[in-house]
Amino acid sequence: MTALHAAPSCAFNINDYILAGEDVSFKLSPNTSGLFEKGCPDTIVIHFTAGSSLESSVNVLTNTDSGVSAHFAVGRNGDIVQMLPTNKIAWHAGESHFEGRSRLNQYSIGIELDNAGQLKKIGNSTYESWFGKEYVKSEVFEAKRKNQHAVTYWHKYSDIQISRTLALCKTLCEHHNISIIVGHEEIAPARKVDPGPAFPLQKFKALLLQTDTNLQVTESLETSSQREAHDQLHRDLASPVKKIANVSANSLNVRKGPDTSFSTIDNGLNKGEVLKVLEKQGDWAKVSFTKVGWVNTAFIHEITEKSPFKSQE
Ligand SMILES: [Zn+2]
Repeated sequence: MTALHAAPSCAFNINDYILAGEDVSFKLSPNTSGLFEKGCPDTIVIHFTAGSSLESSVNVLTNTDSGVSAHFAVGRNGDIVQMLPTNKIAWHAGESHFEGRSRLNQYSIGIELDNAGQLKKIGNSTYESWFGKEYVKSEVFEAKRKNQHAVTYWHKYSDIQISRTLALCKTLCEHHNISIIVGHEEIAPARKVDPGPAFPLQKFKALLLQTDTNLQVTESLETSSQREAHDQLHRDLASPVKKIANVSANSLNVRKGPDTSFSTIDNGLNKGEVLKVLEKQGDWAKVSFTKVGWVNTAFIHEITEKSPFKSQE
């Protein structure tokens, strides 16, 4: 764990309560109850949107009639949209309690991650979100709650989304007196399940608050490729993201090395999935998604010009 505690350099800055950095945009939400009291925000609340895209979620969070808002939304391609300056109160936590305090909105920054949320298994390796979109096994995180036998299914976060969120939280911690990082489910357990078991919340707390130097990493890293993806997450903090690509083939094999002689990982990738390009060797690119592997560059489309919602569905 020692390496993970090394202070990463930040890709972001906050000037006058507004985030600046690559692939960061701003769309003001009218849904605020004004300025925080002195000393606040001191808390970050992590959410998932349970929505179908970053754009649709930002539309809701900035709509006068919705009655909800958040400071930031993080897309699956790593794009960040800020909707309120960090000195203003947003409406994301609702009825909530934590360590003797209620109504956490008045103390906290809200970060929403584009994620479909809990999924329903509808076939052998097919899963469905509440809004009817289908997902394959590689997009799904299986979880078993303590003392429960039933397995539940959750939409995985993308690597780049997690690493950008981590960098965002790091910047917020540096600019505000953040001492608490919680999931929405922790402050409203009777009502909420976000960000859910697919989000590495304990790791975030350990990395950002450095409260426990002997942290036991609770997520099980099933394969070395998953471990590599996790390690990559932390390397990302040191170097801002440079290259993103979409899968252009209908389905794409991911291999353990840069040649067809290497065995494949998982069930492959679907058209439109967002990847981060880590390195290239000839016709092959090493990419990171929820895992790390090699794909033939003929079947990916590199995105050079990035507008906030371009690679959303
Ligand atoms: Zn929430």
